[in-house]
Amino acid sequence: MSNRTFTMIKPDAFRNGHSGAILDRIIKEGYAIRALKLIHLSAEKAGQFYAVHKARPFYGELVAFMSSGPIIAAILEKENAVESFRKLIGATDPAKAEEGTIRKMFAASVGENAVHGSDSDENAKIEGDFFFSGLEQC
Ligand code: ADP
Ligand code: MG
Repeated sequence: MSNRTFTMIKPDAFRNGHSGAILDRIIKEGYAIRALKLIHLSAEKAGQFYAVHKARPFYGELVAFMSSGPIIAAILEKENAVESFRKLIGATDPAKAEEGTIRKMFAASVGENAVHGSDSDENAKIEGDFFFSGLEQC
């Protein structure tokens, strides 16, 4: 287990001014930030990141949304990071997310759901390396 995961504060949460509160929550939950950047994805780059969802009906909407404004990308470290962080963010659809989860608190819809969290150690590494060079990962 790598004990690292990858997250993004998505354009909705950034636009709505929730970045500080979300980062504060993440740090208070015991995650150490190992890489961090503000970046505005092109549609091409957003499409590459979510290529696994290419066949899904919401792919076009997802790519447009993820390239609609800046995001904050980060690599986080904590014991059992991938699984614990998925619990902290809550279900994909904020209406189904548990009380107190980040998506429940800050997200408005299944599409615009405030944050990303990797779903496996393997994908955490792939996604972290998509955004950060080795020099940028502490
Ligand atoms: P998660 O981000 O919880 O891992 P998925 O990997 O299934 O969820 O989907 C990736 C992202 O695609 C979601 O976070 C959300 O932004 C978007 N998405 C998923 N399902 C839908 C849907 N039914 N309609 C619109 N957007 C969706
Ligand atoms: Mg996913």
